[in-house]
Order: sequence, then C-alpha cells, then structure tokens
Amino acid sequence: MNMKNERREREDKGGNTMTTNQAGWKIDNSYSRLPTIFYSQQKPTPVKSPEVVIFNESLAEELGLNPEALQDDEGAAIFGGNEIPEGGTPLAQAYAGHQFGHFTMLGDGRAVLLGEQITPDGERFDIQLKGSGRTPYSRGGDGRAGLGPMLREFIISEAMVGLGIPTTRSLAVTTTGEQIIRETMQTGAILTRVAASHLRVGTFQFAANWGKTEDLRALADYAIERHYPEVDGQENRYLSFLKKVIKRQAALIAKWQHVGFIHGVMNTDNMTISGESIDYGPCAFMDTYDPATVFSSIDRDGRYAYGNQPYIGGWNLSRFAEALLPLLHEDEDEAVKLAEEALSEFPEIFEAEFISGMRLKLGIFNEEKEDKSLISDLLNLMNEHKADFTNTFKALTFDQLEGSEMFQAVDFTKWHGKWQERLERQEQSKDDVHELMRDNNPGVIPRNHRVEEALNAAVNGDLSVMVKLLEVLANPFEHSAEQAEYCKPAPSTARPYRTFCGT
Ligand code: AMP
Ligand code: MG
Repeated sequence: MNMKNERREREDKGGNTMTTNQAGWKIDNSYSRLPTIFYSQQKPTPVKSPEVVIFNESLAEELGLNPEALQDDEGAAIFGGNEIPEGGTPLAQAYAGHQFGHFTMLGDGRAVLLGEQITPDGERFDIQLKGSGRTPYSRGGDGRAGLGPMLREFIISEAMVGLGIPTTRSLAVTTTGEQIIRETMQTGAILTRVAASHLRVGTFQFAANWGKTEDLRALADYAIERHYPEVDGQENRYLSFLKKVIKRQAALIAKWQHVGFIHGVMNTDNMTISGESIDYGPCAFMDTYDPATVFSSIDRDGRYAYGNQPYIGGWNLSRFAEALLPLLHEDEDEAVKLAEEALSEFPEIFEAEFISGMRLKLGIFNEEKEDKSLISDLLNLMNEHKADFTNTFKALTFDQLEGSEMFQAVDFTKWHGKWQERLERQEQSKDDVHELMRDNNPGVIPRNHRVEEALNAAVNGDLSVMVKLLEVLANPFEHSAEQAEYCKPAPSTARPYRTFCGT
C-alpha cells in the first residue's frame, strides 16, 4: 500500500490528514466526553516542513507504537501536526491557575491533546503536541515553541525518568520549518508530550470558577476514574480523592528535594492531579547546596526557591482543596473543616517522605527518632561549606572524603562519627549500606552547563552531544568510570546559572 497516496486522498479542509494505522495508534478520547466547557475542539495548525529531530524509540515501544512506521515523513507529519493519528479528535484544554500567586484564566495556548493512546498493557496516556499553533486560549501568544526549549524539556523529563521520579515524558521533538520570533529569531519546534493525563490543579480551579457544580463533579469523577479508582465507592470519595492527591504531591516534591530539582514555576496550572512533574520551563538542578537557590530569572522573590518547594506544594494543594469544597460536603462550614483537616496533614506527610528518602541516601535501613537531626545537621554543614549537593552524597557513598573543603572541617568529622555510629546500630552490613546508597544517590544529574552544551550543539545541527548526555542520564545510578566527566560541577565561569521563561 502506498501510504503517501492514501494520505493525500484523505486530506481534509483544515490541511490536516488522517493517517492509516501501521504505526500502532490505539486512541481513545475520554477527555472529550467531559462537559464541553473543559475544552475547545482544536486541530494543530499545519506547518511548512516538519522534521523529527529526536525520537524516543523506547517510549514509543512502551506505548505500543511502531517506531519504524513513525520514521521519516510519516512521523514528521504527525508530530508536526500536519496529520492526525487515526482515532484522534484534537482539542485544547481549558484551565486556570495561580501564576506567582495571581489567579488567571489560562488553557492550552500552544498545545493540543491529540487523544489518549491505550498501551498494550491497557494503560492510558495523553499524547499532546506542545507548540502546535494558536488556540482559543492563546491570548496574545503565537501558539508556537522554540527548538531549544523543547529539547530542554526532552532532556530534563527523560532525566527525571532515569532518576525514578514521576514525570510527563517526551516522545519526539519536531522542527516546523518555520521561524518564531522571541528575543531573537528561533527555529520553531513541537514537542510530543506523553502524560498520565494533563489534569491540573488549575483544571479544578477553572471548574470551580467557571463551571456548575455538576461540571466540577464530572471532572472529579473523571480524575478519580483515571488516577485514583481505589477511592470509588468510599463514603466521601471526594475527600479521599483530595487526600490521595495530597499524598502523591508530597511524595513527588520529596523526590525533587532528594535530587536537588528546582521546578522554577510551580504555578497551580503546572501541578498535576496524577502526581507527575510537568512543564519543564525554567527548571534546573541545584549544584551547590543552598535552600535559597533560584535559577529562574523571573522568580525575583524566590517564591519557587529549592527550600520553598514543599511550602508552595502545600499552598497549591490548598487552592485544589478550595476548588473541591462544593463536593466535600453540602454544608460549606463542614466542607471547609474537612478540607482543612486534610491539608493539615501535608507537612507531616511531606516530612515523612523526605526523611525516608534521605535515610536511603545515607544508607539507613530502619528508623530512629534522631535521624531527622542527623540529616539536617549534614544539610546545614553542606550549606555552610557551599558543598555540591549531588557530589557530597556520591562522596559519602564511595567513602571518598578528600576533595571537598567540607570534609576537612572538624564539625564534619564529628557528624561523620555520629553517622558511622548510626550505621553500626543497624544489623545490615557495610556492603548492604553501600549498595543502598549507590541505588539512591545519583552520580549524574543534568548539570546546567552540560544541558547548555548539548542544547547549543543541537540547535546548531549537531545532536550527538545531546544523545550522549541522554544516554548517561538514563542510568544515573550506574556510577561507571565513563560517566565521571558528567559528575563534575560547572566551572565558575558558567555561574551563576540563569533560566528564562521565554520559551
Ligand atoms: P507555561 O508558562 O508554559 O506554563 O504557560 C503558561 C500559559 O501560557 C499556558 O496557558 C500556555 O498555554 C500559555 N503560553 C505559553 N507560551 C505561549 C505561546 N507562545 N502562545 C500561546 N500561549 C502560550
Ligand atoms: Mg504550564
């Protein structure tokens, strides 16, 4: 069969075509069955000459897609938005959000959901094109995205996968053959993003502000069915749902803290209901340990600083709980009471998640009350001595206590003694401890200068640096000799590092 001829035959008025299905698409559109206020039907705007720059074959396979059928023109046409995969009914999602504390109506201003791919295991994943043209929610924006920022999202999201942190994923980055206007002209590109769903705290805020209670209920029921089916049938399912989201977000943010990930723009529209990390704009990994670390140039007050992320997580969840109030109880006062009770647990749940992950990083198998101070004492020392976060844990793992200035300090020696005594009080052997630490302390993180180096080469046509970086980031716990170069902190000339939102 000649796929190209067939594609041409099926061209529709909007300039998009429908593809045949050798690629393995098995698409459902459950989101489009929600009340219509939640979306606008919206096809991607066709682009001049789409070309796939990078394609995630292993993710394609997990999704039940056939990488070969998505090579060349076929994949480029779909990932560029010129063709709609069979069964897809594209739409732009409506949502609102608190951006740096200010509430606004938002929505997919430059993205469309093509549909939900059902995997061979029966799992459901959103397939979204980001940078695919204007939508009714674009406001003043052009609906487009630049190659650099889309590749950046590809790198960081796949690094998160390697680190074992729940995240949206990146299937492809496709150039459009068109330029976009930012501070300078940039190559236009589209990211194909894969997510457990794109439901956000902001989607619920949109429902609460612009929908009827039935709309809000429909959205909550949908989210429960998709992400928390276990609460179905419980006495107050919406309260259980709230508690589950609180738990998952606490666990997620704890995982960010364990690797020094700074999201940079934790607006409520960038917080998922599924518990996946989403929207890799100005995010970056902390090198020198300092809770006040901020990379984003627009975060002037440090609202989204490393040390503030747990607090902001709680703040965002309060906005989520507020949105859910009409479903929690018919009596408003009672609803507020239930919401407050649930929210009051967040700090404790977060701390428990944080401490338990830090125990693993220090090779601790069981629980002692003093572990908390053992951990905070170390972090304080790291702050005082401006120690590299990742490399300090790596050094402790391999007992390589030269190099860093902190390891020579008397206070550190005292701390080290206490830590050794702590390890001796558990029954596990030194080897067990070492193994636990290896598995929980990444050797490599996407260091800012490495990410920049890969992106600079990639936007100039050389993808090899990025491909190599992705390979290393896929196995951050390997601690191999080949990875040693990637463990080095940035030279001082590359600091302070700044990220920008001009995506
Ligand atoms: P973000 O900062 O990526 O979370 O985006 C915040 C909001 O701005 C979302 O509603 C986006 O869809 C929208 N947005 C960002 N960039 C553009 C753009 N180039 N064109 C239209 N909307 C955009
Ligand atoms: Mg966003």
